[in-house]
Amino acid sequence: MSSAKTKKIIKKPFTVRTKDPIKRKRHIAKVKVKVVKAEKTKPDGLVDGLVLAEIGPEDPVRRLPLPLPRKAVSRKPEPPTKLHLGKMTYSFEEGGAEMRDLLGGKGAGLGEMTRIGLPVPPGFTITAEVCRRFFELGRQLPNGLEEEVHRRIVELERKTGKEFGGEVDPLLVSVRSGARVSMPGMMDTVLNLGLNNRTCNALVVLTKNDRFAWDAYRRFVQMFATVVLGMKKEPFEEVLKRYVAKARVASESDLTALAFRNMTSEYKALVRHYTKKDFPEDVFIQLRMAVEAVFNSWNSRRAIEYRKHAHYPDWWGTAVNVVTMVFGNMGPDSGTGVAFTRDPSTGQRKLYGEYLQNAQGEDVVSGARTPVKIAELEKQQPKIYKQLHELADKLEKHYHDMQDIEFTIERAKLYVLQCRSGKRSAAAAIQIAADMVKEKYITREEALMRIEPAAIGALLHAQIDEKHRGSVLVRGLNASPGAAAGIAVFDPDRAVDLKREDKKSILVRPMTTPDDVHGMIAAEGILTSQGGATSHAAVVARGMGKPAVVGAEAMLIDLRARQFSVKGETIKEGDPITIDGTTGTVYRGLLPMAAAKLTPQFEHILKWADEYRRLGVYANADTPEDAKKARDFGAEGIGLCRTEHMFMQQDRLPVVQEMILAETPDSRRKCLEQLLPMQREDFRGILRAMKGLPVTIRLLDPPLHEFLPNMYDLLVEVTELRLSKADSSELSGKERLLRRVRQLHEENPMLGLRVCRLGIVFPEIYQMQVRAIMEAATELKKERVDVKPLIMIPGVGTVTEMKALRDLVTAEAERIIKAAGTKVTYQIGTMIEMPRACMVAHRIAEYAEFFSYGTNDLTQLVFGYSRDDAEGSFIPVYLEKKILREDPFQVIDQDGVGEFMRMAMDRGRTTRPDIKIGICGEHGGDPTSVEFCHKLGLDYVSCSPFRVPVARLAAAQTVLNERAAESAGEKKVDQD
Ligand code: PEP
Ligand code: MG
Repeated sequence: MSSAKTKKIIKKPFTVRTKDPIKRKRHIAKVKVKVVKAEKTKPDGLVDGLVLAEIGPEDPVRRLPLPLPRKAVSRKPEPPTKLHLGKMTYSFEEGGAEMRDLLGGKGAGLGEMTRIGLPVPPGFTITAEVCRRFFELGRQLPNGLEEEVHRRIVELERKTGKEFGGEVDPLLVSVRSGARVSMPGMMDTVLNLGLNNRTCNALVVLTKNDRFAWDAYRRFVQMFATVVLGMKKEPFEEVLKRYVAKARVASESDLTALAFRNMTSEYKALVRHYTKKDFPEDVFIQLRMAVEAVFNSWNSRRAIEYRKHAHYPDWWGTAVNVVTMVFGNMGPDSGTGVAFTRDPSTGQRKLYGEYLQNAQGEDVVSGARTPVKIAELEKQQPKIYKQLHELADKLEKHYHDMQDIEFTIERAKLYVLQCRSGKRSAAAAIQIAADMVKEKYITREEALMRIEPAAIGALLHAQIDEKHRGSVLVRGLNASPGAAAGIAVFDPDRAVDLKREDKKSILVRPMTTPDDVHGMIAAEGILTSQGGATSHAAVVARGMGKPAVVGAEAMLIDLRARQFSVKGETIKEGDPITIDGTTGTVYRGLLPMAAAKLTPQFEHILKWADEYRRLGVYANADTPEDAKKARDFGAEGIGLCRTEHMFMQQDRLPVVQEMILAETPDSRRKCLEQLLPMQREDFRGILRAMKGLPVTIRLLDPPLHEFLPNMYDLLVEVTELRLSKADSSELSGKERLLRRVRQLHEENPMLGLRVCRLGIVFPEIYQMQVRAIMEAATELKKERVDVKPLIMIPGVGTVTEMKALRDLVTAEAERIIKAAGTKVTYQIGTMIEMPRACMVAHRIAEYAEFFSYGTNDLTQLVFGYSRDDAEGSFIPVYLEKKILREDPFQVIDQDGVGEFMRMAMDRGRTTRPDIKIGICGEHGGDPTSVEFCHKLGLDYVSCSPFRVPVARLAAAQTVLNERAAESAGEKKVDQD
């Protein structure tokens, strides 16, 4: 074997396998490498092992029993099926806010409003239990329901003085879905039900308005055909277009009664043609079919997608509300609208919403017609506006929350059709919660419970950097705050495909419908050319915490050509754009983003959260900048500093590569000496940024070949050089590099020479890192900076590894302290990320002052799923098929991984009762996992800086939930 040294200039950039700094997923990064100095010696000169014999194997006598699995937390089980349904319908007078699970949010709200005397049209609700039974029976209505519904209709007839199917004053109803939580637009609704040829004629006579009656009828036929009979809307739209063109009018609102009447006949002919059946004239059959359709819509693709995204269980089912129709399209003194009692984007206290004169509710919600601001109503019908204002105040006072009200004005009489707690942006949620505490509507505890931890993450995300506001393409409505950049896509499926390729997109549509939801989930942001602040796109985006700009009317979208044009510019699919949902502006290109800041209200809420939570919240940060950000967001320490990210920096990589390619410990040490001052500077920066707080620094973790060029790329290069018979020195350099890369190549690198095994095999690397940490700490100590370093050894699986590396760290740390003449206290601990470490945690704890769960690796190893591949491969299928309820790399698998964590904790604490235990895997910022960590009894969670506020809030909510459950339990005991 030659030991001659060779030096080589490599001009082309290397392709290096690196990892996503957050997920540690591997991706390919091009890194320019100028000089690689390689030394060659015997391959076995690589190993400079430690003597391990003096520590025996784990003592079998001390092996502890496996704790019994305990009940998982926060999993509400599916309730057992009731054999007897009991009461299946409730009139609005019988309902109320507390019956949301049974009557759905809408039904409970209508009941409550009726109870407090608001003008609600009479109606009744079929319970969500009936929906569950409907599916159990193979999509059949349970026995007795039709009779009960008949009785309710008779009641309605009595209350309204109208008759269902009657030929004098016919009762028309709407049939509306309503689950226990709002799922805007995800399920179906049928309006104007009860119309047939006879009742329509009656309506003509009664209202003396044939145009209104036939318009209502043709709308009903189309809605019934598309919602209940499953027909496509296009054939109906074709007919409508033809009538508009024939009449040479601008829109359908200018068509005559005769036109609507003829259209109705054509619509019915379409129904006959497509379904081979006549349109049902019997109003009770219409009602039964509509109820079935609404139940069925619970399991429509879009509803399932929405539930999956929102983590709502499938078993809930939807209630159905049958409500007396009131008409907003009976002339200029009629109309319909949606109003929020506060601004749902900012939280500002003012009536906010939109109104359409002479229109039905669906026109507003679907975004098909662009409504005017609610302030217009004040000009048009000041009395009604005042009444709406009073009603809004009454509702807020009653519910102690911001309300979203759907209203209709029928011939100058105001009706409320729905009220629910209004969806709001995360920014608005915070503002409203803080304001309502000030207004004494709610307590601090209630304020904390009002904010969805997962949603506030969006607030902490970047906004467009003020300095880089690019050229404005178009402006629309600022429907959902935050900024997003990505390539324009015009099709929701395309957004999903791009997401799979890890590419960011902005979904551009004229308007969105519930069928687009999967694309909205996949895209970074949403841009529409139509619709207002309460359109589907706006409401859904706000709920998802996604930036959205809607109603950018200057855009001309051509869905077929997959492009839009505006002011002579054309944006094609694949072109980069940036949207700012806070201002409603759309820019060309991908604009740089600036970090978000906490508002004073947000700070208040988080401070209140700190008063309740028990769990510490630390951050994962690798640079002084991240550490500072983490501290600003309230981190109480650094729970994980991944030192390999420092190795990846452009100026260091060549030295790191040289160090890896070195074939003797001496030559390796020389490279490490070059790295030492750089690492020391990093640690100084972080320790200084976190002064007074603990900083957990993990020694090198990833497989070394991740810092080297890709073996397959090198192979291609060498082959090409060989074929081209190029400069032989270049060839020999590449061949030598390839040989070394091959030596380091592993089939299963995540199970190979990585984590603490690196420290055992190359102790000089860990020695250098410990030296850098302790020199930084002692220097800062001399500058009177309070430093609290914790040195963390990754991936320990045996007590021998732990003991050997503890000895190494202690020896080096003490040497530095002695040389510096300054005392610095430090701790040595380990990550718990190997299943074996959990089993022998009681032995490992003899040498570890703290444990930190590396749940990324622990999940990988407990499940046997590759963390690099599983999420891009079978996990989506597993979720789809419900083999897994959640992605275990995002939410802790409480039954499996969680039990290993419990075992390690219990065993560790038997040896060292005060051992500090935390988590630093990505799960540390996931609200459900935070709750689990609290219940398990950990000391802290550590997550990315942006998720620190999320974790603070989630930890406080866990305590508040516990207290609520305790007091509910106490109440129950009292009653018993
Ligand atoms: C872990 O495994 O959970 C962890 C934090 O370490 P890494 O992701 O760097 O392997
Ligand atoms: Mg790990």
